[in-house]
Amino acid sequence: MKLLEKLVQTPGVPGREDRVRDLILQQTKGLFDQTHVDAMGSLLCCRKPRPRPRKLQKGSGKSITASPLKVMLACHMDQIGFLVRHIDGKGFLRVQPVGGFDTRNLFARMVTVCTAKEDLPGVLNPGGKPVHLASAEDRKKVPEIEEFVVDLGLPVEQVNKKVRVGDMVVIRASFTQVGNTVVSQCLDNRIACWEAIDAIKKLKYHDCEIWAVFTVQEEIGCRGAGPAAARVQPDVAITLDTTLCCDTPGVPAELAITEQGKGAGLMVMDSSAMTDLKLLEEFEALAKKNKIPVQRTILPRGGTDASTIQRRDMGYRVMTLVCGTRYIHTVTEMVHLVDLYACRDLLVAYLQSAK
Ligand SMILES: [Zn+2]
Repeated sequence: MKLLEKLVQTPGVPGREDRVRDLILQQTKGLFDQTHVDAMGSLLCCRKPRPRPRKLQKGSGKSITASPLKVMLACHMDQIGFLVRHIDGKGFLRVQPVGGFDTRNLFARMVTVCTAKEDLPGVLNPGGKPVHLASAEDRKKVPEIEEFVVDLGLPVEQVNKKVRVGDMVVIRASFTQVGNTVVSQCLDNRIACWEAIDAIKKLKYHDCEIWAVFTVQEEIGCRGAGPAAARVQPDVAITLDTTLCCDTPGVPAELAITEQGKGAGLMVMDSSAMTDLKLLEEFEALAKKNKIPVQRTILPRGGTDASTIQRRDMGYRVMTLVCGTRYIHTVTEMVHLVDLYACRDLLVAYLQSAK
């Protein structure tokens, strides 16, 4: 959990993923044979096959193929957040969203404004009157993102000296274990980064060539994954991500998408990608063999990096492995440990058997 906590506490909105990338590089020393940062900023990490010593190999004595199966794991490392858009005459900041927060969840939030020199604490609130002065009409209104301002508690001259348009703004929230779950901001999608790293750490032998790719700018239209896939040219691309888990009061059961604690989600399709049927069945069989809980799921609206990977170049075989997340795209995203570990264990099982 230490690594996951570090991952979620490191800010990285679309286009500003460098801190997360540096953390991953530092935390994976010795795990990969080659690493590469592409022009967009995605981190591509290659681990060559680690075949079982010959005497341990069962079967016909067939040698390992000259070109091993190339498996790409796509984990987006960006989180939803904001960039500073405007500094007004009093030093209040207006923000540009990068990724989709529901503004109903943005009242009275502590934020961090990450400037070139330092990280400044601030308070995010919509402009307008406090509850004491607001009319009944005012109180019903849900403000647009344009109405939110960040207050840095500093005079305008100092704000102008420290802050620039384009600086990253993220919400401050704690990482907490709640019952059998973890609750934090940006579990979407740092859990995927964690799953990939932890799964590879657990591997002893594998015949496939693994490309763990930590992609950029997923939250603003899956922009980094396509170019990364074009570089790797994988035989199989597995996208790791979160998905909706709406098994909570007020949502009909047929719209739950996943159920908490029922295991890793095998995404049959979402609105922008279709999982390769053979891969889906392979994952399901592996889960059964290794007694890992899984649930099939379909997401009628929404998508992941699989959307751009699948249609890149002459097309790629994709599989989307998801972890159901309650309260997704809030700063209290909740993931059940059974589901999280099931995703990781299924990944281990696949990488160990893929060839
Ligand atoms: Zn995501």
